[in-house]
Amino acid sequence: MTTRRRFITIVPLAGSALLAAHTASAQGAPTLDPKDPQAAALGYVVDTTKVDKAKFPKHTNDQHCGNCQLYQGAATAEKAPCTLFQGKQVLNKAWCSAWVKKAG
Ligand code: SF4
Repeated sequence: MTTRRRFITIVPLAGSALLAAHTASAQGAPTLDPKDPQAAALGYVVDTTKVDKAKFPKHTNDQHCGNCQLYQGAATAEKAPCTLFQGKQVLNKAWCSAWVKKAG
């Protein structure tokens, strides 16, 4: 009985610890390096105004991570995780060629 009761106590605690660790890792994740091979392949730049217009003629300066559908933070967050780059954070004012206008 004691063992079962202890187990019931421990499980929710472990769950909260895992959740806290996950949240901390997302917030503390390193910022994406534009030289990262996947970032480079997608034309990622840390400043949307520095996009190569010849390479990406459809790009406009109002497109940036902060208003992209794949940005996982508040629109005002300086940086946040992106669905494409697991374990990294992208800058709000950055851009890559996978940019999709955030719905709503
Ligand atoms: Fe930024 Fe969107 Fe590209 Fe992710 S997919 S790096 S949020 S522009």
